[in-house]
Amino acid sequence: MRQLVAGNWKMNGLGADLAELLALKAGIVAGAACDVMVCPPASLLDRAAIAAGRTFLVGGQDCRPEPSGAYTGDISAVMLKDSGASAVIVGHSERRQYHGETDVLVAAKAQAAWAAGLSAIICIGETEPERDAGKAEHICHGQIEGSVPAGAHDGNTALAYEPVWAIGTGKTPTSEQIVAMHAHVRKCLVRKLGAAGQTIRILYGGSVKPSNAAEILALADVGGALVGGASLKATDFLTIIKAARPA
Ligand code: PEP
Repeated sequence: MRQLVAGNWKMNGLGADLAELLALKAGIVAGAACDVMVCPPASLLDRAAIAAGRTFLVGGQDCRPEPSGAYTGDISAVMLKDSGASAVIVGHSERRQYHGETDVLVAAKAQAAWAAGLSAIICIGETEPERDAGKAEHICHGQIEGSVPAGAHDGNTALAYEPVWAIGTGKTPTSEQIVAMHAHVRKCLVRKLGAAGQTIRILYGGSVKPSNAAEILALADVGGALVGGASLKATDFLTIIKAARPA
């Protein structure tokens, strides 16, 4: 399966920044070795989808499980789909941290994504104290058990392993740590989902940048990358995309 390189713009981006998407499009118009996605803020989603055309995918950063209703300020998976998204990130550590999102809620969001015709990028990852205490594998196993619904397969789900301590910090795990955790995540997915767990892409996320992308994307069972800060500038994001391992 092709790798997926997805950019998470978080709460960044105004209309003027659509120029970055046009530059991204120009950089991959002749084709990329991987699937490419940008997840802009919801305010830019439909304009981003128009800018992308068929060149790259666009996705949402979060959704509420309900399709509509009295939930001021929230957005549903159906709305994201209607705006041109083909996927949505759920359970990002910033949602878990700042909005108290639980595994049960994240699983409900993933199911809502599927019901709306979106694929779900389900995020998991341990904090630094959890890693220091030797609990990283245990934490990720629990998050997979709780956040990945039955029915997940490679056509509707990608998993993003994002150690919280590596997000936005410039710190990354060693290659050995990434390989070990992706092997563990694979084992957990297969234990939970059977054969379907064998082919779900496992993305690595956390301080991926032009200077380390080739090394990370070449590692065993790294199915792509979820990229925050380095996805905001087309030149940096294109360098990461070009580092993807051809299928
Ligand atoms: C993220 O927020 O998913 C992320 C990986 O951020 P960064 O690349 O900036 O560490």
